[in-house]
Amino acid sequence: MSMEIIHVDLDRSYPPRPTETTKIFWDAIAAGQFKTTRCTSCGKMTFPPKPICPHCWSDSMEWADLSGKGTLYSRTIIHAAPAIFAKEAPIHFGIIDLEEGIRIATRIWDMEPLDIGSPMRIVTLQYNDGPLFAARKA
Ligand SMILES: [Zn+2]
Repeated sequence: MSMEIIHVDLDRSYPPRPTETTKIFWDAIAAGQFKTTRCTSCGKMTFPPKPICPHCWSDSMEWADLSGKGTLYSRTIIHAAPAIFAKEAPIHFGIIDLEEGIRIATRIWDMEPLDIGSPMRIVTLQYNDGPLFAARKA
């Protein structure tokens, strides 16, 4: 599955600092793919990607593709954003239940209010200096 890539003519306000583990995730986001880590001992996925399983403490992790599909669990609109994010306010933000059973917090790219339970999909936000991700109404 390949995600929609939306070009944003700004630099990221607070860019991620990829580690050896998370570089794989950010490279995938840039390519329009959504991935996370899965424990090979207990089989559970975690998000964000981790080198150690928070369920059973195994360090035997593998990469797994995510569908990028889910439903909106909760949402809010941030009008009074911290100074570093002020140029992008108001920022729509929400919690998405991915169909793989993972609950994530992420920016919502749609500007109109969405109903709780709306089908959502993850998209790549390609800023001038690198990628981020967000959710949009499916
Ligand atoms: Zn585990």
